Amino acid sequence: MDKKNVLITGSSRGIGRACALAFAGAGWHVFINCRKSLEKLRDVENEILASGGTCTPVPGDVSDPDEVRRIFKIVENTCGGLDALVNNAGIAWFGLLTDMSDEDWRTVTDTNLSSVFYCCRAAVPYMVSRKSGRIINISSMWGTAGASCEAAYSASKSGVHGLTRALAKELAPSNIQVNSIACGVIDTEMNARLDEEERRMLAEEVPAGRFGAPEEAARLALMLAGAPSYLTGQIIGLDGGFL
Ligand code: NDP
Repeated sequence: MDKKNVLITGSSRGIGRACALAFAGAGWHVFINCRKSLEKLRDVENEILASGGTCTPVPGDVSDPDEVRRIFKIVENTCGGLDALVNNAGIAWFGLLTDMSDEDWRTVTDTNLSSVFYCCRAAVPYMVSRKSGRIINISSMWGTAGASCEAAYSASKSGVHGLTRALAKELAPSNIQVNSIACGVIDTEMNARLDEEERRMLAEEVPAGRFGAPEEAARLALMLAGAPSYLTGQIIGLDGGFL
């Protein structure tokens, strides 16, 4: 039987990498992507191939609509289209709102929110033609609660939540499910700016008493790819009880 195909944006490290390994391990053909860290993307490719899986690297900046069109041309030429899309690529920006430049604002919102729009727009026609598809957005608890000194990040993730709920309604008649995972603090490079003391204090704030592992987010993403089709339009918290 033919393999199912998934694109995971931002899969050179962190949650995206863990998703790529989890989907490949479950028998999916995985299109892996990142913008800059090409060596790490090659490591992920090698790891997947070494464990008997298959993947196609599609490097490119998903905050750029032309790049997304180019990536999806490769997907179409390889397999026709996607069975699932995991919108994971994202960046953080910490600081006072008043210190944020126009360009900083645009970079955060283009990377975290517009990329989701560009990729969904490109993925959906094939899914509609097959009356089947899964879209899984990797979002943040800050999109629900808001975080001090992360206003643009929080706004971009709130946008992802709105897009998830609206698109789920638009696509439910076509049997396409759209859900988001609202991650809490996950142990990835995104939190590398924290020193040991800050990490300890932050972990103490989490009822579970620890950071989440990228593999836990990946497991949930894979579950959503196989969840009952009646589950759609949901923002599912994965935050150790934080919110
Ligand atoms: P990392 O910084 O570890 O990884 C981010 C990935 O996204 C990298 O592969 C990076 O590759 C890629 N990326 C960034 N910008 C682009 C772009 N424009 N085009 C293509 N790829 C891009 O972060 P995490 O794994 O922690 O984060 C993954 C997702 O999870 C993000 O959406 C984040 O907001 C979300 N999240 C993370 C939390 C955490 O605590 N870690 C908490 C809540 C949500 P490259 O640098 O090469 O571009």
